[in-house]
This record gives sequence, C-alpha cells and structure tokens, in this order.
Amino acid sequence: MSSATTRVLRADVVVIGAGAAGPVVVRKLLDHTDADVLLIEAGADYGRHDTGSWPADLLDADTLPDSHDWGYRGPGHGGTWAFGRARVVGGCTAHNGCSQTAGVRADYEALGIDWAPGELDARVAALLREGRAEQPAEDELTPFQGAMLDAFAETGIARTDDLADLDGVAGCGPAPMNSPDGVRWNSAFGYLDDVRDHPRLRILAGAEVDRLVVEHGSVVAALARDDAGAVTEVRGDRFVLCAGAYGSPEILLRSGIGPADELRALGIEVAVDLPGVGANLHDHVTVEVRFAATETLVAATAAFGAVRRAPDEQVIAKARSGHGPAPYDLHLFPFTDLASGRLEAVIPAGVVAPRSRGRLRLVSADPAARAELDHGYLRDPADAAALRAGLDLVRGAAATTALAPLLGAAVPDPVTGADHTFFHYWHPAGTCAIGSVVDTTGRVHGLANVHVIDTSLFPQVPRATTHLPTGLLADRLSDDLVGRAFPPPDREVSR
Ligand SMILES: Cc1cc2nc3c(=O)[nH]c(=O)nc-3n(C[C@H](O)[C@H](O)[C@H](O)COP(=O)(O)OP(=O)(O)OC[C@H]3O[C@@H](n4cnc5c(N)ncnc54)[C@H](O)[C@@H]3O)c2cc1C
Repeated sequence: MSSATTRVLRADVVVIGAGAAGPVVVRKLLDHTDADVLLIEAGADYGRHDTGSWPADLLDADTLPDSHDWGYRGPGHGGTWAFGRARVVGGCTAHNGCSQTAGVRADYEALGIDWAPGELDARVAALLREGRAEQPAEDELTPFQGAMLDAFAETGIARTDDLADLDGVAGCGPAPMNSPDGVRWNSAFGYLDDVRDHPRLRILAGAEVDRLVVEHGSVVAALARDDAGAVTEVRGDRFVLCAGAYGSPEILLRSGIGPADELRALGIEVAVDLPGVGANLHDHVTVEVRFAATETLVAATAAFGAVRRAPDEQVIAKARSGHGPAPYDLHLFPFTDLASGRLEAVIPAGVVAPRSRGRLRLVSADPAARAELDHGYLRDPADAAALRAGLDLVRGAAATTALAPLLGAAVPDPVTGADHTFFHYWHPAGTCAIGSVVDTTGRVHGLANVHVIDTSLFPQVPRATTHLPTGLLADRLSDDLVGRAFPPPDREVSR
C-alpha cells in the first residue's frame, strides 16, 4: 500500500467483513464482553432497515441482484465463469437466494469441534428464528415450484419437508426462506440493526483491508483503504477475519501468511509459512437445463403473481447420485428466470459433497488485483459421475406428467449448443480450513491473536446452501471467542 496513512483508529477487537459471519461475531462481542469493537467492511453501509435507504434490488428477495459485485472471474467447466460476491454491509446475504438449509449433522461433526448434546439443533433453530426464516406455505408456492414437487414425487423423490433438519434424508420440500414480506433479511438487519447506536461499536464501511501488520507473532494493525485511496491504520488486540472464502485468504496472503515460496515470488515478506492458506478451494458444481416455459406456465405464473408474491425459487430436492455419501449428495433447486425478457424455467442439479479441489492464488501484492480462482470443478471423476446422475434426475423430472406440459423445449446453451449448461451454486469454501490453517476455534496457526470465522473454514463444504452453516459456525466460534459454554443461559434474551 503506497499511500500515506491518513489516520489511526484503535479497538479491542477488529472484525473484518460484514457478511454472513461478521455481524454474528460483532453481536456476540457486544452482548457478552466489554470490548470496543470495530467492524471494517469494503462495501457500502446502507444503515438500519427501517431507514429506507437500502437499494431496492438488495431488498427484493425474488431476484438475484449483481449491483454490488466484487467482480471475481475464473475458469469454470468449459469457459470463464463469474463468481458473484457482494461488496456491501450484509455481504452475500444481501444478494443471495434466501434459501435456508442446514445440511447433514455428520458434516459438522467431522469438523472436530466438540459439540454438546443438542447444541447443533439448538443453534440451527436460533439462527432460523433470528434470521426470520420461514418455510413457504402450500398456497405460497408458485405454479412452477408446486409442479416441481409433484414432478419429484413422480420420479420417486418423496416429500420430506426437512431441509432445515440436520437428520433430514433424501427427499424434497419447500426450503425455509429468510424473506419476510419479500424483503431479503440480510445478516446486517438480523444482527446489527439493534446495536448500531451501541457506544462500543464503530462501523468503518467503504474501507477495503489490504493487509494485517504482523510483529513478533501477533497482528498489531489492519491497513484499510477507502475508495479515494486514503489509508486507515486500525490497531487492535484481536483480529477476526470474516471476509469470506475469497476475501479472508486474500488478506492473509497479502499479510505474508501463506505458502512461503508463493509469497516470496510476489515480493511479499513471509510472516508465517502456512501452505494451507488458499489451498482446498472448492464449491458445489451444477448442471442445469433451461426450458422456454409454455404459454400455460407463463399465464399461470402471471395470474399467480397478480395476487401474491412469485419468488423465483422455493423448493429443493435432496437426492442420491450413487457416487457420493449417504443420505444424499445432490441438490435439485429449480428456479424461474426472466433474463431473456421472457419467463424461463430452470432446473439445476448440484453436487453438494464435491471431492474436487482447486486453489486460490494471489497474482500480485496489489490489493486491487483479485486473486486467481481455480475451484477444480469436476477434477475428481466421482463428481463428474454424480453430476451426470443429477442431469438424469433433471431430465426425468422434466418428462413427468406434472411438468412436461409446463416446460416446452430446452433452451440450448449459447456456447456449446447442448441442452444443458454447467455452472456453480455460489458456495465456495475451504480456503482457510480448520486443521491446515486454523484450529477448531478458528485461531490461525502461528499467530497469537488472529481468527478466521467464515465459510473458508469448512475443509469440506456442507451439503447445504451455505448461509445457515456459516452462521452456525460463526455462532459457535464467537461463543468460543467470548468464553461462553453451551447452553448459554441467556440465549433467548441475548438478541
Ligand atoms: C448469488 C448468490 C446466491 C446465493 N444464494 C444462497 C442461498 O439461497 N442460500 C444460502 O444459504 N446461501 C446462498 N449463497 C451463499 C451465501 O450467501 C454465502 O455462502 C455466505 O454469505 C458466505 O458468508 P461469509 O461470511 O463467508 O462471506 P460473505 O457473505 O461473502 O461476506 C464477506 C464480507 O467481507 C467483505 N470483505 C471481503 N474482503 C474484504 C476486505 N479485503 N476488506 C473489507 N471487507 C472485505 C465483503 O465485502 C463481504 O461483505 C449465495 C451466494 C451468492 C453469491
């Protein structure tokens, strides 16, 4: 960072990144310690929900906005893909699909965290409540989403309605959605709105952290730069990185914490040789078939939308490919899309227990240069086999009596001409994994006072959409940070 430091701030705890995890951590620190907390976020802060100052697209839960995107791009399967990440207070919870699924208990038990009896279920229930997530009622399902449940039943995928149950099995149902009255209820509304005037909280928004300053095995400061190039040095006793699966490893690497040879090649002084930083990048890979909806579906959707909300996604099926772990390793998550100006019905299948691995690598010490992202999509043949099975399930569902009259012809992929397209489920993970980079409390190996708490901690991404799992980890690890055991006696009144 070449610009001169223009000011110095100090806090007891510095939290970096205000996405799914950061606000949970901040809230816990304010509620259960006397610490001064400073939250740094690269993107804008639009304030409390009730100020009415939020951009409409970030509030509208029925579409996926890209107005606040970081601009990550990289190799996908058969071309360059965009990897959406929101740069705003709220992070990706301010632009995501609002599906709340918990995944499989075994995925959390495999983390090596010592969960108390009942702890996982209690934390999932609390997060759903605090996030205002509710399962859509039958009469709230759009014609397409309702028909999808019938189609799944025809293909043998039973209705289980257990997407938020850690002991859920293969089956389908509406997913709980954190979208009360159609508003995407992001993590800032859930965890920051009530404490924005707290005397021990400061939010430094529009400030991108370049790097941490390491001295004698501890971090003493974070250097952040605003859009005009002015640098703030934020000094603190403890630093918690919640900048996400791309942002957290980028910050560590620029700070000299990572694979020594790679860092030296970029001219970065090595503070801690930690080869796991940026390694193990992986994601849920998907294949989708897109259909030009028939007039019947277009008319039914318009009639439905005239009298009630018509969300673009609501139901999810969990299925077994035969090439992954029980009880399920695939998600089918149908949605509708108006990208072409006309309603299209899209049925994707995603591999939710991927074995393929890639790597995040810095290309430059310059914080303005985004890291190179190789997710390793379909590198492991088992993932390719699972995805093929997923595509068969999609085609089977599309051919059912419940769906076929609504779907019309498949829309060919614009590049390959095939009837299907590969993509991802927006769930990158694993780049600061528990074990190789941090311990089971999120503390970075080799440093006394730095923690990572976000999606990058999962050595294996959970079999779920990743907002709720990230919140769960943040809820537990911030309890560790503030020294609270489970069950916390004041859980019901703390928020
Ligand atoms: C298009 C899309 C749809 C999705 N749909 C769903 C869904 O329906 N259900 C679901 O459960 N999950 C969904 N997800 C995934 C989910 O939202 C993410 O997994 C989750 O938000 C990740 O949480 P996080 O805290 O790790 O990171 P993020 O939420 O990405 O937060 C990281 C924050 O850190 C900030 N930051 C990064 N680098 C810096 C830096 N250098 N300095 C300062 N700040 C920085 C970012 O701006 C951001 O605010 C979706 C994601 C996308 C992109």
